[in-house]
Parts: sequence; C-alpha cells; structure tokens
Amino acid sequence: MPADPVAIARDLIRCRSITPQEGGALGYLQSVLATAGFTVHRMTFAEPGTTPVENLYARAGTEKPNLMFAGHTDVVPPGDETTWHHPPFAGELAGDKIYGRGAVDMKGGIACFVAAALDHLSAGGGKAKHGSISLLVTGDEEGVAVNGTIKMLQWAAERGETFDHCILGEPSNVEVLGDTIKAGRRGSLSGTLIVTGRQGHVAYPHRADNPIRGLVTLVTALQAPLDEGSAHFDPSHLEFTSVDVGNETVNLIPGQARARFNIRYNDCHSPIALKTLIERRAQTAVAGRVHYAFEWQPSNAEVFLTKPGPFTDLAIAAIAEVAGRKPKLSTSGGTSDARFITKYCPVLEFGLVGQTMHQVDECVPVADLATLTAIYRRIIEKYFG
Ligand SMILES: [Zn+2]
Repeated sequence: MPADPVAIARDLIRCRSITPQEGGALGYLQSVLATAGFTVHRMTFAEPGTTPVENLYARAGTEKPNLMFAGHTDVVPPGDETTWHHPPFAGELAGDKIYGRGAVDMKGGIACFVAAALDHLSAGGGKAKHGSISLLVTGDEEGVAVNGTIKMLQWAAERGETFDHCILGEPSNVEVLGDTIKAGRRGSLSGTLIVTGRQGHVAYPHRADNPIRGLVTLVTALQAPLDEGSAHFDPSHLEFTSVDVGNETVNLIPGQARARFNIRYNDCHSPIALKTLIERRAQTAVAGRVHYAFEWQPSNAEVFLTKPGPFTDLAIAAIAEVAGRKPKLSTSGGTSDARFITKYCPVLEFGLVGQTMHQVDECVPVADLATLTAIYRRIIEKYFG
C-alpha cells in the first residue's frame, strides 16, 4: 500500500515546532524513516548567542547518484490562536482541506516527499535499488538560519557525503500546483548610511552643520535604478526601511542622521561590486560636501541561479505529466535555504501552493498533497529510471 501523505502531514502539524523548538516533529520523522530502512542521523547545532537547534539527515543507499530532498519542520508562530477557525496545531481535516500552521510551509511538502521516498524504498524491498535517496530536514529555517541547513551541509561534507541534485520542498507555486519552479533566488544585502554634521542651536544654523540635508541628497541619489534585470532575474532594487535622527527637541540641530536600507539584487552583481557601486554613487552625489559613512551588515544570502539543463528538464517533465501543466522557472521572492544548498549541488524549489503560508487558518487541499506526492514519485522514477 502506498504511503499516505495526508496522515504524515496531520501528524507533523500536531507537533508544536514553533521555531526554534523541535516540538516532536523530527523525532516523528526519525521513527517513520528508520522503520522504512533509512539510516537516520540527528544533530544539534549551536553557536554563541543563538538557541541550539535540532536537525535530521536520513539516507538510504550508499551509491551515487544521491538525490536529496530538503526542507524544514520549524514553523512561524501562530499569532493569536483564538483568531484561527481551526486550531493551528490540531491538523484538522475540514471539507477537502487540512488546516494548521505549516500546512503549506512546509510540513505538507515534507509529508509528500517522505511518502514518495517511503514508496521508493518499499518498491526496492526496504532498499534503494539504484543510487541513494536522502532527506535533509532542519529545525532552523524560519529563525536566524545559522544552526540548520548551512551547518548540516558542512557536517555532511566532513563525513564525505556528496549530493548530486536537490529538490527543496518550499511552497513554490503561486496560484495552482505545478505553475512555478524556483530555480534561483536574488541576493539580499543590508546597510546603514550615517551622515555626520555638527550639532547646534536651531536659531544659529551658521554655527552648525545639519546632517539631514546631506542625508536627503544621498537617499535620493541611491534610489536610482541599479540595473535593467537579466535573462532570469527582475531588476535589482534598493529600498530604504528607516530614517533615524533620534532628536526629541525642537531647538536643536542634530549631530548625526542615519538611514537603513536593504537591496535585493540579481546576477548582474556580486556583493562586493554592489557595495562599490553604492559607495561611488554616494561620492558622486555629494562631491565631498557631506561627511558620511556606510556600515554594511554581514550577509549570507548571495544571489544564485540553477542553470537550465537535464535535471530541470526532468522536473518540468514530471510536473507536466502529473499536474498537466508546464511550470515556469522563477527567481522571485525572498531567500530560502536553497542559497546554502546551491554551493553543494544544483537545487530546484518545488512544493505546494504558497497562498496561505504564514497566515491565520493556513491550509492545504488534500488533493494537492496527493498530486505533489505523485510528482515527487515521478521525479524519483525518472531520476533513477
Ligand atoms: Zn518555508
């Protein structure tokens, strides 16, 4: 009998794994996967200033190629639970949908690839007949993402594990299952612009130097377009998120003014080239008349693109055969753990429809769980076939 993604999804939703809590979700997966014949590793990673986080890596088979499915069992908090019509951690089935936090992001997606992987093993009598299939599941994706996928991949590399291709089961589809594969993500870079002037009495401005004037000039100059986009990406974009002077009095010219910003950038830029571009633009805009400095935040979200090729073609064909529509390749949206995986093997993101993620009454149609499981099964068959 094929594995049931609906039962697995409901069991996972019932685990209160609010990031960074494990909540029983990884323990549940461990027992399901070990029973089916997977070798399962559990590891907790920690770092000063962060909460230790539990993770899981399971593999069946020792041969190449190694096809990895990746995901996260941690979820964002439910908010005020009384506003939910179906409790966020009950896994209720109502009508033709399952409700709960993580239904689409991404316990539902995990349930589908676990079910497909279990079927693959039972078809081989509890073994992977060709190659290897592995599951990399973190409890640290919705949080700071420092004790999860990034460290698991390092741990795996140190053990000599290699990966050939990866499907990350994040909710990639926009409207309907099968409409979108994410084949890359923009990079994210944040900084603060600090303009320094001279504090003084507002009635004697000639004795002061108001940094707000310089800040306004610079903020305007830095909002010019960064590029026109590229073959696979929309144009890069810089957005100011805060302007701060911190002045509570009316008769004081402040000594310093700051503005924070974030840039979502495409494959026209490296982080270093982007910083240089921004700093040059500032220089040109004020031509030595304003004292300013940039503080750049460290970033672990660089732009990446999984170039079209046989693996992408295989995934598109599997989706088209099962769902009856050809997905488009997209690089939109925020960052995901794919930014870490891409350094080890080509990665595509394909999962459920993202419409209700992080919302009250997050839910997934039962039919979507069945279809996604069938798509993952088809990908596995084609990959090892
Ligand atoms: Zn997610």
